[in-house]
Amino acid sequence: MNLKNKTAAFFTIIVIAVIVAAIYRGIVAPVTVIIQAGHEGRTCGNTGAVCDNYKEVAWNIRVADKAAETLRHWGVDVKRVAADAAFEHAEIAVAVHFDSAKRPCRSGASVGYPDNNASARFAEHWKGIYRRYFPFKWHKDNFTDNLKHYYAYRRIKADKFVVMELGELTCKQQTDWLYPRLDRIGELIAYAIATELGKHPPKPRL
Ligand SMILES: [Zn+2]
Repeated sequence: MNLKNKTAAFFTIIVIAVIVAAIYRGIVAPVTVIIQAGHEGRTCGNTGAVCDNYKEVAWNIRVADKAAETLRHWGVDVKRVAADAAFEHAEIAVAVHFDSAKRPCRSGASVGYPDNNASARFAEHWKGIYRRYFPFKWHKDNFTDNLKHYYAYRRIKADKFVVMELGELTCKQQTDWLYPRLDRIGELIAYAIATELGKHPPKPRL
């Protein structure tokens, strides 16, 4: 092999190694926590609820970012992902959403999770925390097919996965309550996750 070919072979090996490492990180290497902001990055299809000046996706991003930032501050390894995340592995995954209703104020908060006990118990833990504050309607768990068979359950393999609907964007009483609390709701989600991981951070208040 002449020098030119050796150099080309060397760079080819480096490129392959980088690709293999990236695939390994994405598919095999787990992170502790994944937080998904619902609808983030979508420009068509299911882009989330919009009502008056409020956009669900903007709220989702704000709450998800705050939850991730708070967890990192507490020393937890977090990956923030958008709606169309690559294949991932995690101990805990949370997807952040706000609901909308055809007839305003008929909805509220709810949770969705895949069919396993660990996810169901984590959902129960979250409801126990948020229920103390959220003063509006709660649906029964997995009340829609979108919650029960959330598309990202297939993309993000997590020991515990909960989709959180945090309130209804199409209800003025609820948005009046939610909007000034968005950052603290993010902190409360971080608290639920950290305590699920056996940590004891200070409890945020809404
Ligand atoms: Zn949504």
